[in-house]
Amino acid sequence: MNCRECEERLQSYVDRELSEQELLEVQRHLEACPPCENHFRLQLHLKRLVKVCCESGQAPAHLRAKLRQILF
Ligand SMILES: [Zn+2]
Repeated sequence: MNCRECEERLQSYVDRELSEQELLEVQRHLEACPPCENHFRLQLHLKRLVKVCCESGQAPAHLRAKLRQILF
């Protein structure tokens, strides 16, 4: 897997929407590629941020949708 392929799957990886095989491939790439790993950590952080924001009920649905669009 190269960086571009990793990039394409990163969002699904964060959301755990990949097959087991794809998960492994992304995981292997992240372990070997610090720039992609950084990107992954950032995505994970943002996802958590959005989750907290959504669960606290402070963000209306349309804002949440917008947030996802911007962040991902
Ligand atoms: Zn990479």
